[in-house]
Amino acid sequence: MSLIYNRVALIGLGLIAGSMAHAMRESGLAGEITGHARSEATRDTAREIGLCDRICDSAAEAVAGADLVVLAVPVGAMGDVAAEIAPHLAPGATVTDVGSVKQAVIDAVGPHIPDGVHFIPGHPLAGTEHSGPRAGFASLFRNRWWLLTPLPGTDPGAVDRLSGLIAAMGAKTDRMEPGHHDLVLAVTSHAPHLIAYTMVGVADHLRRVTDEEVIQYSAAGFRDFTRIAASDPTMWRDVFLHNKEATLDILGRFTEELFVLQRAIRMGDGEQLFDYFSRTRAIRRGIIEAGQDTDAPDFGRTPGARP
Ligand code: NAP
Repeated sequence: MSLIYNRVALIGLGLIAGSMAHAMRESGLAGEITGHARSEATRDTAREIGLCDRICDSAAEAVAGADLVVLAVPVGAMGDVAAEIAPHLAPGATVTDVGSVKQAVIDAVGPHIPDGVHFIPGHPLAGTEHSGPRAGFASLFRNRWWLLTPLPGTDPGAVDRLSGLIAAMGAKTDRMEPGHHDLVLAVTSHAPHLIAYTMVGVADHLRRVTDEEVIQYSAAGFRDFTRIAASDPTMWRDVFLHNKEATLDILGRFTEELFVLQRAIRMGDGEQLFDYFSRTRAIRRGIIEAGQDTDAPDFGRTPGARP
């Protein structure tokens, strides 16, 4: 594959930025990759493992002369980072972000972007429960969706170029309106994470009365909840604080459905339970057929086998 950007600056050096660095390097998509993280410890680790061509002590230095700048920090930190880099952005550069929420990031970042710089918000639908500069791997985005939510009037050439980079890292791109993105993600990711956090919390309480049986005899369903609930607390705090309306809407609907099932169990209504579970099973089949997961018993999540 060939060069798409001459210099890519990664601001924030965690799972997503690290995976981008590995993927871009693997295919020679960037002439130079610079990187910056706020803490010295992360910058030192990034230098030690050679994550980027150059690790800079300031965000300003990292973005100078870059034709692509990627904001890969928690959603709640995007606005401050944008304000910090804005005076140092090269004319004609593209700024994108990888935040899990889109409208709040647009509101926080958009006002800082100078005229002549293209701002194209994005979100890779790929991740693991691991974080930090050592967590990234080149194949993270392979066969995954990467949604872009460009604002009306954005230069189509800049969007195509960014889409080209994303495709070259192995992902599939689609474009979406930001509010719609936030609603879709509340259903597919944000509410499920909250449910996993809650379920692990319930088991934590239970453990005290059942002498650690919950952990000892943890079946696959619960183990998968614990994996999700091990996700980065800062990232997920920010997701819920910044996708509040959509998440609350979905959780309200979830609670209603839960009561329906609870009542069916209480009333011994096996037919209702069977019909409900048959419908949900069909949804799972659809996900596998769409290539978004595998039907392997570990859901394809063993290291090196991630889909
Ligand atoms: P991560 O591994 O935890 O790394 C986060 C990076 O952001 C670190 O370099 C950290 O710096 C920096 N950071 C944290 N708080 C900051 C602050 N207040 N100001 C400036 N920098 C700060 O995170 P990640 O998983 O790569 O996530 C990055 C973004 O991608 C988030 O917006 C997240 O919503 C989005 N995303 C995540 C996933 C996922 O599954 N993980 C999937 C899709 C999108 P230090 O190391 O110096 O603290």
